Amino acid sequence: MALIVQKFGGSSVANAERVMNVARIVTDTYKNGNDVVVVVSAQGDTTDDLIDKAKEINPSASKREMDMLLASGEQISIALLAMAIEKLGYPVCSLLGWQAGFSTNSVYGSARIKKVNAERIKLEIGKKNIVIVAGFQGLNKYDDITTLGRGGSDTSAVAIAASMHADRCQIFTDVEGVYTADPRKIKSAQKLNEITYDEMLELATLGAQVLNNRSVEMAKKYNVTLEVLSSLVRAPGTIVKEVTTMEKMLVRGVTKDTDVARISIIGVSNVPGIAYKIFGKLAAKNINVDIILQSVGRGDTKDITFTVAKSHGDEAVEILKNLDLCTGLEIVCDTNVAKVSVVGAGMETHPGVASTMFEALFEADINIQMIATSEIKISVLIDAADADKAVEAVHNAFIPVIS
Ligand code: ADP
Ligand code: ASP
Ligand code: MG
Repeated sequence: MALIVQKFGGSSVANAERVMNVARIVTDTYKNGNDVVVVVSAQGDTTDDLIDKAKEINPSASKREMDMLLASGEQISIALLAMAIEKLGYPVCSLLGWQAGFSTNSVYGSARIKKVNAERIKLEIGKKNIVIVAGFQGLNKYDDITTLGRGGSDTSAVAIAASMHADRCQIFTDVEGVYTADPRKIKSAQKLNEITYDEMLELATLGAQVLNNRSVEMAKKYNVTLEVLSSLVRAPGTIVKEVTTMEKMLVRGVTKDTDVARISIIGVSNVPGIAYKIFGKLAAKNINVDIILQSVGRGDTKDITFTVAKSHGDEAVEILKNLDLCTGLEIVCDTNVAKVSVVGAGMETHPGVASTMFEALFEADINIQMIATSEIKISVLIDAADADKAVEAVHNAFIPVIS
């Protein structure tokens, strides 16, 4: 007998038929003699719809009240799934995040899990219940509901698997696993049998929505092996773990991220300490800076360009405008940009990945604005309108098309 954590995303529970389908997967697992803890997200587009509802009433509602609202989506799902399981004749108990012991910090909207006290889950399992837990939510030290950020149910599942030392953590979604690119956009994308935590973390951070990046970070930290698989097609998925037995692929995946703003400060003084003052100020305001490019000084001045998440663009510009060293300077914020990246542990030991990527972009007539690299990834910033074309071109350059 094993303890299995199964997570189902919004599309897997989008309507009554899908909820019944999930109930069958869960009860089959239970029937085979396993203890089962299930984590579910809100149905279909519920979270987006709730955000729209809030905006209609107050576009600048407090983050606390937003969390109170958004957490309700998952409450609907757990109750409906529990009812479906009851209908199939199995013992079941649904729990909200706080009932399942999720304590978080107080950063409403993107709270971090501090602890999962799994006593109640264990109690219910002891009673032979299938346990259904609301993903994406917890409780802070003020007993307020918090949410973990978009896609956060993946992290809820990994947190339960880690704290209960589960034998398996399965992330069910609407595609059959992790692919070399978004299979909905790139027809030739291939399913990966395995991928390392580090590669998956890069892919998730760089825009592959299939797993939330915090969930991968947590899985790596607590050594939770993840399996990403389809709730609609019963087939083996992708295993995410520390070391893969697969030969290191030069490039494991290609992603795009359109949640990017590029900010340029033209003509700052060419003296020491400028970068420190600019980025120190942004860091103090919790603004995460991604790619940074500083031009070589021309005499007395130089230009600094960097990227931030779109949602931080305006705030970053305001902060810069208030810096003495930026007084009177031109500060430009462009949100029509996208970041396209290739990821693969194999590139550490193989030269030439960058040049192949740049050649593919050149052949597709796409201009590169900025470049950033790490041991296992190369990212370029390009015009947002070129993003899909760029992913396709770069994917074709690295992943053989199997016909
Ligand atoms: P869920 O609702 O199950 O959490 P998501 O919509 O968050 O599902 O994530 C699944 C989606 O991720 C897929 O439908 C797919 O379009 C997208 N996706 C993006 N990149 C990839 C990739 N490299 N591999 C698989 N899916 C990807
Ligand atoms: N329902 C939340 C969202 O849409 C959490 C999740 O799906 O994981 O972001
Ligand atoms: Mg998701």
